[in-house]
This record gives sequence, C-alpha cells and structure tokens, in this order.
Amino acid sequence: MTTIASQLAHVRERIDAACAAATRTPGSVRLLAVSKTFGPDAVREAFAAGQTAFGENYVQEGVAKIEALADLRSAIEWHCIGPLQSNKTRVVAEHFDWVHSVDRLKIAERLDEQRPAHLPPLQVCLQVNVDGGANKSGVAAEDALPLARAVAALPRLRLRGLMAIPEPAPDFEAQRALFLRAAQVFAQLREDGIALDTLSLGMSADLEAAVAAGSTMVRIGTAIFGGRPKA
Ligand SMILES: *Cc1c(COP(=O)(O)O)cnc(C)c1O
Repeated sequence: MTTIASQLAHVRERIDAACAAATRTPGSVRLLAVSKTFGPDAVREAFAAGQTAFGENYVQEGVAKIEALADLRSAIEWHCIGPLQSNKTRVVAEHFDWVHSVDRLKIAERLDEQRPAHLPPLQVCLQVNVDGGANKSGVAAEDALPLARAVAALPRLRLRGLMAIPEPAPDFEAQRALFLRAAQVFAQLREDGIALDTLSLGMSADLEAAVAAGSTMVRIGTAIFGGRPKA
C-alpha cells in the first residue's frame, strides 16, 4: 500500500470510529480529500485508493490540477473550499462541481450567471462565521437565513448546506462547542424551510469533534497527504 493509500485508510477508520462514538450511521459522513499544494500524482494515488471527492483552496492551482487530470474528470468531484474573490467566480463556475465558501449574495449571483448551461447546477455551501471574528470570512449566523433564501432562488446554483472553519480550539469539548454553533444554524435554517443536506465541518486535527457535532462532510488534507510547506 502506498503512503497516501494507508493514510487514507486510517482517516476512514477515524471517521468510522467517530460515527460509532456519536452513535451515527457509518457512512453518514463524506470524506473530502484536500489536495491543495500537492500535485496531480498525489490525487491520482488517492483516486486509485478509492477517493473520488477532492478539495482545492486556490482557484488557479485547482484549475491547473483539474486540467492535468482531465482523463478522470467525470469520475472526480472537485470542490472549491477557499475564499472567493469576484474576479475568480467565472473560472470556478466553469471548472468546479461544488463551492463551500459562498458568503455573500454578489458572489452567488456571479456564480449563477457564469455557470455554463451544459453543466449541472453548481452545488453550493454557505460559509458561516461562528467565531464572530470581524475580519474572518463567512456570513454572520444572524444573516444566514436571508442569504440562504436568496441563494436557493438562483437557478444555476443548488444550495446544499453550510461550511464553517472555527478558530483552532485546545481540546475536543471546545472544538465541539464551536462546531455545534454551525450545527445550530444548520438546524434552524432547515426548520425555516430551507432544504439542506450538507454540513461541511472538520479538518485533520478536529474531525472527531466535528462528527460529534453533526458534520456530514469532513475536509481532510494533512492526515491524507502529509504536511504542507508553511505559506
Ligand atoms: C487546508 C484546508 C483544509 C484541510 O486542512 P488539514 O488540517 O490539512 O486537514 C480544510 N478546509 C479548508 C477550508 C482548508 O483550507
């Protein structure tokens, strides 16, 4: 087994164990492999080990990889998980299957206008800011409902859920408490009649706490591909 294949297997075991600990159905949490900073060969290796959903942070880098892996395009689901500027929306709308980081209507409207007609609707999560940090990306919890209603009405987007990236917290309980804030916004929106099925929470260091809080998709980089050079 290659290193990536065995690390992938280990992450899948962690997810299964976290589901068991939370008395959740095994298989109720999807694994998104975050391949940012790693090359197409690393993605191929993970793909060969059965991984089909990949996340990228940097639009240019992601598109270069999607193009280098064109032979696998129909078998791989590509997720854009990084902060999104207006001048990048067209490239994202033309190349990715999912976007997790929509936090304002203007970005959603551009993605909707720019999504090519021959592709299925772009699958979208709204990024919510659960820390209240003023300079962080993400819509404030209290503004999530109007944004969700507006995004749900855009024909070329399909609103799937919420994503959050809380500040690192020291231990399981502190991590879980932050994830639970996102889970509460998710539950409230569903109560308000917004159809959502995806709660994108958890990374290498805190996936267990995210699963305990109700995550349905964990975004894992380091634990699969290894350490990244510091930016
Ligand atoms: C890099 C990144 C991840 C993966 O983080 P790891 O700690 O390497 O697992 C997940 N989500 C987002 C938004 C990221 O930028």
